[in-house]
Amino acid sequence: MEGDEAEKVIRIAGSITVDELAQALGLAVTTLIGELFKNGIVATINQRLDFETAEIMIQELGMTNVRLERKNTTSKITDRVTRELSKDAVPRPPIVAVMGHVDHGKTTLLDTLLHKKTVESEAGGITQHISAYQLEYDGRKITFLDTPGHEAFAAIRQHGAMLTDIVVIVVAADDGVKPQTVEAIKFAQGANAKIIVAINKIDREGADVPRTMADLSAHGLQPEEWGGDVMMLPVSAKTGEGLEKLLEAILLVADVEELKADIDIPAEGLVIESHMETGKGSVVNLLVTGGELKVGEFVTAGGSYGKVRTMLDFKGKPRGKAGPSTPVTITGFKELPNFGDRFLERKDEKAARKAALLYAQGAADEAASANVTSTDLLRMMNVEDNSKIFNVIIKGDVLGSVTSVVDSLKMIDTKGEVTLNIVATGVGDVTENDVYMAAGDGNTVVYGFNVNVPTNIAKLAARDGVAIRNYRVIYELLDDARDSMEKLLGEEIVETEVGEMKVMGVFRVTKTELIAGGQMLKGKLVPRVLARVRHGKELLGEAEVESVQKERIEAKELIENEIGGLAMKTEKKLNLAIGDRLEFFTREKRQRKLGE
Ligand code: GDP
Repeated sequence: MEGDEAEKVIRIAGSITVDELAQALGLAVTTLIGELFKNGIVATINQRLDFETAEIMIQELGMTNVRLERKNTTSKITDRVTRELSKDAVPRPPIVAVMGHVDHGKTTLLDTLLHKKTVESEAGGITQHISAYQLEYDGRKITFLDTPGHEAFAAIRQHGAMLTDIVVIVVAADDGVKPQTVEAIKFAQGANAKIIVAINKIDREGADVPRTMADLSAHGLQPEEWGGDVMMLPVSAKTGEGLEKLLEAILLVADVEELKADIDIPAEGLVIESHMETGKGSVVNLLVTGGELKVGEFVTAGGSYGKVRTMLDFKGKPRGKAGPSTPVTITGFKELPNFGDRFLERKDEKAARKAALLYAQGAADEAASANVTSTDLLRMMNVEDNSKIFNVIIKGDVLGSVTSVVDSLKMIDTKGEVTLNIVATGVGDVTENDVYMAAGDGNTVVYGFNVNVPTNIAKLAARDGVAIRNYRVIYELLDDARDSMEKLLGEEIVETEVGEMKVMGVFRVTKTELIAGGQMLKGKLVPRVLARVRHGKELLGEAEVESVQKERIEAKELIENEIGGLAMKTEKKLNLAIGDRLEFFTREKRQRKLGE
């Protein structure tokens, strides 16, 4: 490829065989196999490499002009749900997400709006799953997506934002703009959603609405009152004050935006939650975005399909059909679709099965079918660093929580020092199989999130030395993971400067002892600190301070400008002279922290 300046792009659908990659690169297949071998991988020509592995091999081969791209075989969940509307499209309820910093009052706001108490029942006071509600105001419907609050759920919230027409950003008037407020603003802007700000907790004493508005304006949201384009409404989620105005504002924005959807098309929308229930099978929350979904119709979502057996509204009341912007819970999917999957009505069972199969094949073409993955490769490339791989198996109660845990774990910044290796994930209680999988290397943690660990499984794990850690609050799980990864980093030595002295008198110098006097230039001197002895810039050596004297009397400390004496223990003779400097410091061993 010499002299070939142009960039070459290779598109692969998640994985590629060794043979195909060699051909695409214009290499003899033996050359590629040889390169893989150098990296510790014994591959045959038919073996499939995953995307990352192929990318790493291209780098290893020094082929800087070759770029690898993913072929899109599956629709990305982050694509905004949009479609061309026909002239028959009808107005539809706005889809509203309530976002904001933790504790600023999102849950209370939704509760008061819906007269529904959920705050108490939440683990750790955090909404764990995305769910949707509808309410009626002034004879018109508004759909709310309850998006989880903690930053750990950034991923879920991002999916939520993609469906959303309007984002209500809740900011506590006594707390102002906080990191997750900024994040919410970014999400809303990224999702092209309209923003309305609810300045909450105005019933509180410390509430300062103008200051909060100024704060928001500094973050790029200009209040209408000040000539900008963002409605900002003072509210109290607790007393209900201002909430009618908020609903009016939402409907006003909906009118201006002319939100519409087609009804005479096959039903479509998004999976916003899914889990298995004994006796019911798959229970799936859908948000219809177009058409009308009816009981008895066939649907696909990702690689799964089924017939809508039962349909409930968000209150649990049975209903026969659901139009645009309506959240419903249905049963009938043969397998659990994924959170974020697009669903589509199909004309009959055959069509549904076929569509699901095609999708599944496309997806299977992706990483799933690769039998050499980048984790294997990285492992082989950094054998000496094997101790820095943190292996986890994740079990969650519903797919949404598994996704959140995985995404949040991946977001822990380890500055590349610890590799997170997700061995397996799954929905449901911790099983025997999880324990067996973890038992292999003695270095794998099984995390449960909102699941059960049956007693016999706990016993099995104890016997095999497998750690099962079960949590109901995600940030506790994340803290645990962070701690575990930090433990892999080991300890470090930290030196802290505490003071400096200029030597004015040298009284005794032996191989093991040094007695001197001087004036403190800065800081503080106390017994037991260490001292660097400096002659000009030259470091003569180190000593340990045994005692301190002030006016010839033993003292606890010497502070800045004070004059005094000190006795130090040394390991060799240090030829201290008048005018030299003593730099006092402490030295500790400390558990290393991630990202330091
Ligand atoms: P979230 O984390 O954003 O969902 O916040 P919550 O709705 O859980 O509210 C956090 C705390 O603030 C709770 O103790 C609420 O009772 C309180 N709170 C929420 N809204 C208001 C309000 O308008 N006024 C007052 N005084 N307290 C509020």
